[in-house]
Amino acid sequence: TKGAAMVTAVASRVQAQRKQIDKVLALFRLTREQLVGVRDKMRVELEYGLKRDTHPLATVKMLPTYVCGMPDGTEKGKFLALDLGGTNFRVLLVKIRSGRRSVRMYNKIFAIPLEIMQGTGEEVNAGQGVPRSEVPACHPIQCRPGMTAALSLQLFDHIVQCIADFLDYMGLKGAQLPLGFTFSFPCRQASIDKGTLIEWTKGFKATDCEGEDVVDMLREAIKRRNEFDLDIVAVVNDTVGTMMTCGYEDRNCEVGLIAGTGSNMCYMEEMRNIELVEGDEGKMCINTEWGGFGDNGCLDDIRTQYDKEVDEGSLNPGKQRYEKMTSGMYLGEIVRQILIDLTKQGLLFRGQISERLRTRGIFETKFLSQIESDRLALLQVRRILQQLGLDSTCEDSIVVKEVCGAVSRRAAELYGAGLAAIVEKRREDQGFEHLKITVGVDGTLYKLHPHFSRILQETVKELAPRCDVTFMLSEDGSGKGAALITAVAKRLQQARRE
Ligand code: BGC
Ligand code: MG
Repeated sequence: TKGAAMVTAVASRVQAQRKQIDKVLALFRLTREQLVGVRDKMRVELEYGLKRDTHPLATVKMLPTYVCGMPDGTEKGKFLALDLGGTNFRVLLVKIRSGRRSVRMYNKIFAIPLEIMQGTGEEVNAGQGVPRSEVPACHPIQCRPGMTAALSLQLFDHIVQCIADFLDYMGLKGAQLPLGFTFSFPCRQASIDKGTLIEWTKGFKATDCEGEDVVDMLREAIKRRNEFDLDIVAVVNDTVGTMMTCGYEDRNCEVGLIAGTGSNMCYMEEMRNIELVEGDEGKMCINTEWGGFGDNGCLDDIRTQYDKEVDEGSLNPGKQRYEKMTSGMYLGEIVRQILIDLTKQGLLFRGQISERLRTRGIFETKFLSQIESDRLALLQVRRILQQLGLDSTCEDSIVVKEVCGAVSRRAAELYGAGLAAIVEKRREDQGFEHLKITVGVDGTLYKLHPHFSRILQETVKELAPRCDVTFMLSEDGSGKGAALITAVAKRLQQARRE
């Protein structure tokens, strides 16, 4: 009959659509061989970065940090810490008490205006301390009339403004505290208190900073303000702070991992393997900057057209390709590119690409995490999509959830493959049959996402079976870690003077 024929026609159309969707999702499924390949390529890049001859061209930069030891528990005092480059910009006061290994922290979150962060406006005043809605307000900057400054000056003037607000707020005006600066971007260091910014990543692009020493820029901004003095002791990557924080409690912690807005890893390496630094004794922490993995094309076999679109639409095209496949800042963008394509193919949103869907950055990590939560009914997924301004049917929300799942699973697996490379290297370098090692972890993706951490851990187990890896969540690694490193550096400074 006619009715039956129609039902069959609809069914076969649904089937055909399903096939098209599956075809897209399949691009994100990595086989075991592919993951082993990623692990092995990462290993090659790690070694390149360590060797003097290949270092200049290495995509995984393997930057020496001049952090050589863990805190021993005798550190104490009050420290200021700055944390720039994660989800928020924060200023912290950290009190470390010796002996009991206890740390108290006070912090305030400040917003960095987009014009300052990305250098979009030339005529911006030196930063208005615009508070984010959910965070305590900072006083707006008093702009001197007619003041326009180079963007690098603006960024650092803004930072110093926030420090001033914080000191005021804590009743610490005039106190001369040692400061540790967690600056979560690739820096070339020649000592613990020097760091030349190699290039911006993630959402930053303020001009005039690349090639400059961030500690100098901060010092000069403090001088320009001429209101207080600070003793800048250390500049630290967030991975290093995270490793330190966990190392304070667990001696086996020799790796720091960030799975947040950005993607990166650091670890303790034997000095004899670090050709860029004199000396063969002991170990030093290496900031791998593994986000640049793949920038030489070595991941092209697994990169999809969607990854390429995300890269092209980013602030730093061609750079940080591994980061763009794995970190919170980009996963939502990959999802969005897939949804646009599926919509174009008529498989989603009734074939209508809304203005919203065209908007960059709508899928934050927080939304992906919500959408993928198993406790969520489809109706709730629909509601989240509605909140995002995407009008979906029930079928649409099933597909969206599948897309999110495929993208975040691949990210977790890629992280796992990268981490497997490093723990295996540590095992081999020490000549162990088995290695027991702890990884300190921080970052919104790791903490908020319902499946990311589990998939990451399973992948490491699978790809580094002779390593027994414990994951330790770092509580506020960037802030606490910067203070601990500052404390250690201070202690060594004093010991040298005596
Ligand atoms: C930066 C790293 C940082 C990571 C996590 C990357 O974009 O290059 O220095 O550790 O993000 O914040
Ligand atoms: Mg050496």
